[in-house]
Amino acid sequence: MERSSAVKMLEPCHRIAEHTPMIWVCSGASSTGRVAHEVGVLLTLMGKGRMCCTSAIGAGSKMHVEIALKARRNVVINGCGNRCASKILESAGVRIDCEVDVSKYVRKMPTLDVLEGDVKEVAERVIEEAGL
Ligand code: SF4
Repeated sequence: MERSSAVKMLEPCHRIAEHTPMIWVCSGASSTGRVAHEVGVLLTLMGKGRMCCTSAIGAGSKMHVEIALKARRNVVINGCGNRCASKILESAGVRIDCEVDVSKYVRKMPTLDVLEGDVKEVAERVIEEAGL
């Protein structure tokens, strides 16, 4: 994905969590982990929700745990059945409203190359499954 010259600023997660679906992705280092990340970016840019920092919850960031606890909805996108992003939220005692396994739709492979079409297709599935 190329960096645009125009920077799109986002609302801070803590300000909008109560009325916006929060999106948590695993960002794993595989085809499906990267698709999960790109789907989170795409859904955020589409205004369907707001991607937040899953690893910050894993690191015990109080502010991020509070964001997830007060979120209107928590939508989790995992790259595969290991469910790493879901486990991070569960460890922090956070409610998960919807979780998606990208490997159901895209083959998990040891590559970071992804097809834009796969990202769009999974994004549509998430919109459908999570009712975004
Ligand atoms: S859920 Fe799968 S792809 Fe994502 S970080 Fe875990 S092992 Fe990697």
